[in-house]
Parts: sequence; structure tokens; C-alpha cells
Amino acid sequence: MKEVRRHHEFIRVNHFRDLVEAAGIPTMMRNEHLVHGVVEIPIPEFYPNLCVMNDQDYKEACSIFDQALEAEKTHPGEELPCPECEENNPAKSAECVACQTPLKSPKPC
Ligand SMILES: [Zn+2]
Repeated sequence: MKEVRRHHEFIRVNHFRDLVEAAGIPTMMRNEHLVHGVVEIPIPEFYPNLCVMNDQDYKEACSIFDQALEAEKTHPGEELPCPECEENNPAKSAECVACQTPLKSPKPC
């Protein structure tokens, strides 16, 4: 068994788990029962994390997870993810609601 990714929002890990399992990869979630919703304690050890049962599925599972995460980030406008803790903030926030890190608006290329 190998850990793929961890994230502080259970609902996302659960969503990505569905995607990975849809690709035929058996998975297991750790810390699933420890949290409900968003982890309030910023300690990654407590974050829900997705594992693959078979190590050879690791790369594929990672790429599915990353693509899904990337797809969420590229949705324009609505939310601004914090670079420090990945909390999603309203698009016009000046600082992160969770950790007060200053947020920058994405610059046009
Ligand atoms: Zn933050």
C-alpha cells in the first residue's frame, strides 16, 4: 500500500478517490473517520489521505489526483486557493481566511 496524496478537505479526497477507483485502481482512505468536512488543525498527519492498494498503481493514481486538482484550480474567478494551506477563499479576499497569508490575484499571462 502506498500513499498517493493527502488534502485537508475530506470531500475532495473522497471525490478524487471516486475518480481513481473509476480507473480501476483499488484504493484505501486513511484518516477517513477522523475528520468530518475540513480539518481545522493544520497538521498534515491528520489530513485524510488516499492510498493505492497496489504500489504499481501509484503513478497513475497520482496523475489522476493531480489532474483533478488542477482542473479545479483552473475554474476561473469564484475562489482563490491559499498558497500556504490550500484553503479556498472568496476571489476578492486580500488574505486567507484560515491562515491570514496575503493572497494575490492570478496575473494574466
Ligand atoms: Zn491559508
